[in-house]
Amino acid sequence: MAKGITKRSEDYAQWYIDVVLKGDMADYSPVKGCMVIKPNGYGVWENIQRNLDRMFKETGHVNAYFPMFIPESFLKKEAEHVEGFAPECAVVTHAGGKQLEEPLVIRPTSETIIWSTYKNWISSHRDLPILINQWANVCRWEMRTRLFLRTTEFLWQEGHTAHATSEEAEEETWRMVHVYKRFAEEFMAMPVIAGKKTEQEKFAGALHTYCIEAMMQDGKALQSGTSHHLGQNFAKAFDVKFQDVDEQLKYVYATSWGVSTRLIGGIIMSHSDDNGMVIPPRLAPLPVVWVPIYRKEEERDLVLGHARKLTRDWDPLFYKIDDRDQYKPGYKFADWEVKGVPLRVEIGPRDCEKNEVVVVRRDTGAKASVAMTGLREHLETMLDEIQRGLFAAAKKRMDENTFTLDTYDEYKQRVESGGFFLVHWCGSSACETQLQDETRSTIRCIPFDAPEEAGRCMVCGRPSSRRIVAAQSY
Ligand SMILES: [Zn+2]
Repeated sequence: MAKGITKRSEDYAQWYIDVVLKGDMADYSPVKGCMVIKPNGYGVWENIQRNLDRMFKETGHVNAYFPMFIPESFLKKEAEHVEGFAPECAVVTHAGGKQLEEPLVIRPTSETIIWSTYKNWISSHRDLPILINQWANVCRWEMRTRLFLRTTEFLWQEGHTAHATSEEAEEETWRMVHVYKRFAEEFMAMPVIAGKKTEQEKFAGALHTYCIEAMMQDGKALQSGTSHHLGQNFAKAFDVKFQDVDEQLKYVYATSWGVSTRLIGGIIMSHSDDNGMVIPPRLAPLPVVWVPIYRKEEERDLVLGHARKLTRDWDPLFYKIDDRDQYKPGYKFADWEVKGVPLRVEIGPRDCEKNEVVVVRRDTGAKASVAMTGLREHLETMLDEIQRGLFAAAKKRMDENTFTLDTYDEYKQRVESGGFFLVHWCGSSACETQLQDETRSTIRCIPFDAPEEAGRCMVCGRPSSRRIVAAQSY
């Protein structure tokens, strides 16, 4: 076991904190609830950004930036929105040594400031659609925080689109939740269930919310991305109308969608182990690290010479040669292991004689001798295998811990021990509230692919036409 990391089997919550801190992912800040994102964690975020940004642009979006300060009155214009967000807003009342005439809210999300601006940009159907994304920080004053999973300030992206018709807005909402699903599965190696949130769980101000839900190693759900169909709610609140082809003035339809640094918490709780971080290769800040092994000066020259020659035309972002003289190889192994570098290449004098290196996988710990010839291609293949292996293991765990249940008694007994539960629910808010109060679990989503199936609500016994996913969650 790595130094300073609690075992998952002993205390899962403490294990998570240990991995975040020892894995060089994040640190606590002087302000309670905020976090410092350390280089290894920020490197993962940069790769999340780079890859998602490409997917957004491939689906027609462009980036822009809106201010972080929002006049307090803006937030009050959409009734459900203010009710949902007001309790967790940080408000600036003084600036420049004076009390402000109108307090400024630090954005908890940007619908209001963006729709107040869209009013100036939209007058005709020719101005639509607007497909804008913003990469930004937001602030939500949370009472109980946890590094990456729930912090007072966090980094995210928020898409805000404007459309002429409800159908088009719906198509966009649907498209983006599927972009998130593909990203989670292909890059994060994290299988997810995509579905619709209940009325109680939807975004404050939305007609409906689609989401992706992932299962963590302890069987709890992590909401990992949401996409909202906002209807005309924000257009009405900010009086954003356009003249349609039929010359009628109409309110614009809106969507918004986002993922945040919470995804990094999802990666940690999907893949990491008792030795520290395990990062999926497609998001790893450093895919391959070389650790040279030598005692004498001439051995140092020999092994470093070979390592540098072999990597001469490699992409500098793909690898690093750890040539720090002040540390022994054993220390370096542990250092890169806890940080989750997917592949370690060891090279010593005898390896040089045999024209081989030793390659060690972070995910399985498997060691193999690999010929120096064709090494780069071999490493690429191994990284692909690790990426696929991590997804397969997470998928297997999710499948094995997804249960179909029919009685509320059984649900109450089993939900505490983790897992996704496919159960019947009548659709009423009363049953949903009762479930939350009695079991500390929630309805995570109504899966898109849930087959029609006649059944009875597990809480009240009234008819239900399909199963939903209920679970405890982060
Ligand atoms: Zn019911």
